[in-house]
Amino acid sequence: MKKYKNKINRIRSFALSLIFIGFVIMYGAIFFRENQILVILFMSLGLICIIGSTAVYGWIGLLSTRAVQVVCPNCQRHTKVLGRVDMCMYCNEPLTLDPALEGKEFSESYNSKRN
Ligand SMILES: [Zn+2]
Repeated sequence: MKKYKNKINRIRSFALSLIFIGFVIMYGAIFFRENQILVILFMSLGLICIIGSTAVYGWIGLLSTRAVQVVCPNCQRHTKVLGRVDMCMYCNEPLTLDPALEGKEFSESYNSKRN
């Protein structure tokens, strides 16, 4: 079975990994310090990753304001639901905003417009 995670959490971990990738690429520039062009190339690539990550973080902030805050029935904590179906941020309980989908097996395909 495929593992689902809360969308906001997923984007957040993506942004975090982008920062790490950016730093690793910048660190890689050390190995090419004899070649100035490569150093500049690696440095700017790393910088682009970090700038991209900042942009993703800004995007999360924007999404968070549009997400619906609900109380998870499983762990009683406040979590944010993005789209028609999403998982709880803390216990991965599947949550839905659509009463028609209640009780059905969780599928991310419910979020696509065709369904
Ligand atoms: Zn929960």
